[in-house]
Amino acid sequence: MNCYICTKSTETFVHEKTDITYYHCKACEYIFKSSEYHQDLTVQKERYNLHENDAEDEGYQAYFQRFLDFILPLVGKPKTALDFGCGRSSLLATLLEKEVTKCDYYDPIYHPDTLNDTKKYDLIVSTEVFEHLHQPREVFESLLERLEEGGYLALQTQFHPNDVEAFKKWYYHQDPTHIVFFTAQTFRVLCEIYGCEFVGDNGKNMVVMKK
Ligand SMILES: [Zn+2]
Repeated sequence: MNCYICTKSTETFVHEKTDITYYHCKACEYIFKSSEYHQDLTVQKERYNLHENDAEDEGYQAYFQRFLDFILPLVGKPKTALDFGCGRSSLLATLLEKEVTKCDYYDPIYHPDTLNDTKKYDLIVSTEVFEHLHQPREVFESLLERLEEGGYLALQTQFHPNDVEAFKKWYYHQDPTHIVFFTAQTFRVLCEIYGCEFVGDNGKNMVVMKK
């Protein structure tokens, strides 16, 4: 199996507890579950509906605030912004609006008709989205197309430990809707492929790139 991000060959491993097969690219550090474990949107929605992401919840606000505290010093002064894959709530867009600028939001399940295909943005944020994507490279490319020249893409997804035994013990892949996994290196490689600038990452789960 070749890597869907950088096309180099991958190594295969099986998680003994779940029997799920994973493919691990040593070049870009992308890991993905075998495609039979990918789920369609209806199944995903059933699981997301279990999440209690109440916009009034202080913990949830603090969670987004940590993301903004990391990315905002890196992204200049955006005049237009989009939250891609916001989920049910538009809380992150609301927080961005308070601190910086009006923010559009889109979600394929909860807010599917909010995207304007001709509109371009100075900043696109996407938190806890990329680990759900069947085709992250294609989505990455489509988000770049929605960015202005010099615009920023800021993502949040947990970086995996890049070690097979540590990966097996890691909690993040146990969510059946999480099917693909990244490190900062994966995003560095994506930046090389698409001619973007890798601006920075927090070593854990956040990354900022510039078109
Ligand atoms: Zn790769």
